[in-house]
Amino acid sequence: MSAQFTFQCQAQCCRTQARAGLFTTPHGVVETPRFMPVGTLANVKTITPDQLQATGAQMVLANTYHLHLQPGEEIVAQAGGLHQFMGWSGPMLTDSGGFQVFSLSEMRQIDETGVKFRSPKDGQIIHLTPERSIQIQNQLGADVIMAFDECPPYPATREAIAEATARTYRWLERCIAAHQRPDQALFGIVQGGVHLDLRAEAARSLAALDLPGYAIGGVSVGEPPELIEQIVKATTPLLPVDKPRYLMGVGTYREMAQAIAAGMDLFDCVIPTRLARHGNALVRGDRWNLKNARFREDFTPLDATCPCYTCQKFTRAYVSHLLRSREILAYTLLSIHNITELVRFTQEIRASILQGSFAEDFARWLAPTSPPASVP
Ligand SMILES: [Zn+2]
Repeated sequence: MSAQFTFQCQAQCCRTQARAGLFTTPHGVVETPRFMPVGTLANVKTITPDQLQATGAQMVLANTYHLHLQPGEEIVAQAGGLHQFMGWSGPMLTDSGGFQVFSLSEMRQIDETGVKFRSPKDGQIIHLTPERSIQIQNQLGADVIMAFDECPPYPATREAIAEATARTYRWLERCIAAHQRPDQALFGIVQGGVHLDLRAEAARSLAALDLPGYAIGGVSVGEPPELIEQIVKATTPLLPVDKPRYLMGVGTYREMAQAIAAGMDLFDCVIPTRLARHGNALVRGDRWNLKNARFREDFTPLDATCPCYTCQKFTRAYVSHLLRSREILAYTLLSIHNITELVRFTQEIRASILQGSFAEDFARWLAPTSPPASVP
């Protein structure tokens, strides 16, 4: 790992593989385990960077695919990079664009060189290759950048997944060769679909490359939650212990708790802001629709135990009123709360790992049964 990136394990759970660590980047330290909010187009929807910082978020994502289409990486680079462009001074991560190309774009053509797809913006054909993805991410300038991978859909045949996994490795080698900036850490991504043997083989060959960090990708693409748990439980121990480990696209309570128990450190998901835009609040493991009639005259905070701005200043009745009136402030207040809630969940897990009580404190989330009603 380059001197600008270190991962220090501070505590290890004695009953699970969970660990608390410090991931140091050029823009600051990430205390792990940690949930990372998603700022698709160089903003976390409806909230300002100051509000974002107050949620306890330390590292923020942005999406290469979306930023390439709008405004384009040249403009971000001219602005001085993502941090300056969006006014966020903390650690950042960009994905490779692969997942969006495979999940969102129509008319894509995959071959060994890369993926061709039609731009939803102007209809032009874009050829995204491993080299191009890294070049774009070098221009965007996040602290952590991701390898360009082939993310097969679920379900897919074993042959198709095996081929995609092998190609992902060949593309990773090209990403490593193309990567130009020592102040950015390139993470490799383990693919392999639902096949544990393919995952294991991919994890072992990636580990041999001694990258600054590792991710498990291609989960949460439609497969049942039990399969995600199985994949994460079997694959995580095969990743190097002295590097940060990132589970891509996962951000529900139970899946994060299970993955942390397997040894994962970082998580991202659009859930908190997407739910906010649908009028939903995440409250200690539950999901509430604030448009529900029962909240109209409820003059208590969303969650009396939550330190966020929304819970400190406003009532459920007020948020419900804003939602019914379609006021934009509703989405801001709910986003602030929902992000705080998921970050806080991972902070609480971190604290319990440091105290040596994770397995007991979070037992209800770790049991292989249906999800519990609330967080301990
Ligand atoms: Zn709150």
